[in-house]
Amino acid sequence: MPNHWTLVTGMYEEDHGIIANKFWDPVWNKTYQFSTESEWFNNTEPVWITAEKEGKKTGAYMWAGNEATYDGQTASIVIPFAYNAEFEDSMEVVVQWMAEEEVDFACLYTDQPDSDGHKYGPNSEEVKERIKAIDKVLGKMMDEFDTRGLTDEVNILIASDHGMTDVNSSKMINLGAYIDFDADIEWSYLSAIGLIIPKPGNLDEVYTTLKDAETTETHMKVYRKADIPDDLKYKNNRRITDIVLVAEPGWLFAKSATYKTSLLGNHGFDNKNSDMKTTFLARGPDFKCGYTQDAMRSVDLYPLLCELLQLETCHSSRGWTNNTQNLLSIEPCIPVAGGTVISSTVVPIFTLIFFLTTKLI
Ligand SMILES: [Zn+2]
Repeated sequence: MPNHWTLVTGMYEEDHGIIANKFWDPVWNKTYQFSTESEWFNNTEPVWITAEKEGKKTGAYMWAGNEATYDGQTASIVIPFAYNAEFEDSMEVVVQWMAEEEVDFACLYTDQPDSDGHKYGPNSEEVKERIKAIDKVLGKMMDEFDTRGLTDEVNILIASDHGMTDVNSSKMINLGAYIDFDADIEWSYLSAIGLIIPKPGNLDEVYTTLKDAETTETHMKVYRKADIPDDLKYKNNRRITDIVLVAEPGWLFAKSATYKTSLLGNHGFDNKNSDMKTTFLARGPDFKCGYTQDAMRSVDLYPLLCELLQLETCHSSRGWTNNTQNLLSIEPCIPVAGGTVISSTVVPIFTLIFFLTTKLI
């Protein structure tokens, strides 16, 4: 969830405030958990609202936060998230938006191969088969754009909000061996990171206990909020808890030795780990053909979208246009119609995310 909002705002979690899939707001005294209410998303304007304000028509398909209003507005067309939606059906609707509804910008999220990756593991045969199936749908989408004469009119950007790494129930960090959750902890969220709010007056004791545990639990790092490394961009927000735990990639936090995860794949680990990285693909009239470059960051996508949509009132962001400028074509480049954009070889891409924009005038 956090990176969904990063992709459409160009801001880090500590800026936009969606700091995890579940978190506590100490001022509102409320827990967020995959909520869709506007108040949680109102800190930073998403690109579709800016586009709407500038007279563009936008659509947001199953995108986290798309139902939330910002300054009383949403995208012109909003399709709420639904589990197990058929990707092919979703894609057909979005192609129709671009072809018939005169939509200038569309974003689409699908929860595969993320769901299969969690269930079967990122390197499983099931995930490979799912990627092949998705590849076929993408090929059909390209053909559809070609049939409708839109191949040189629509830019297609394919991204993901995370990679994925293998996890299993033998790699659990049992925090219950060190702290009593009932007696010492007010609120916690445990996954690849641990967000810990000790009971009033317990902060120093809980921190010292967990810090001491680092010597035996070598697969975790324990931080006081003030000491969270700056490169994580995860500190300056009231929702980030006073104690933050970071698991080594592949390890998960648990409250007790009896808790066993059913997952075989997960994400949310430090993004310096190569398994957390993912793929970005783009094709269309405003992109170079056959060009590859070094990694860009999730925050860099927002200024690129602003440029493709020729928006004049985008807010300043943490993204750099230097990281995406070279992707854009100087000379007109007409992509070859049809075909596939992802080969049947497995690429580390999880949860497919699409942005479509009409071409620059
Ligand atoms: Zn996931």
